[in-house]
Amino acid sequence: MKPYNPMANMKAYANLYGKPKKKRKSVSSAVKYKRWENESHVCHICHKRIPSLDAAELDHVRAHTKGGATMRWAHRSCNRIKHTKGLVAAQKEMNTYKPKKRKSKRKPRMKRTRQPESLFSPPNWKV
Ligand SMILES: [Zn+2]
Repeated sequence: MKPYNPMANMKAYANLYGKPKKKRKSVSSAVKYKRWENESHVCHICHKRIPSLDAAELDHVRAHTKGGATMRWAHRSCNRIKHTKGLVAAQKEMNTYKPKKRKSKRKPRMKRTRQPESLFSPPNWKV
């Protein structure tokens, strides 16, 4: 009888199933639920509210395949659109693209202290 050879076993496994792939970390439902409780329910792709956990998905801001690890909430549907195109392209398609604002070096303008119409209709004035 041959002695047990673990390496031969590994080779047989590799031949059958191919090399073991790097496992993708899945977010457990408990983690999802906790994040859902603690975070604002706004889709990071379209910037709209997400009505329920069922409609929400944790999305990699940077694609997982590109090494992204930060996860944000997104609509299931938005995530599908983003998946193939990338965040900016998806946002442009949905007209939700907001370029990051740069700090302007101009001096801030003086703010008007009072809007002219507020003289005639105070905010809590009931009709
Ligand atoms: Zn969305």
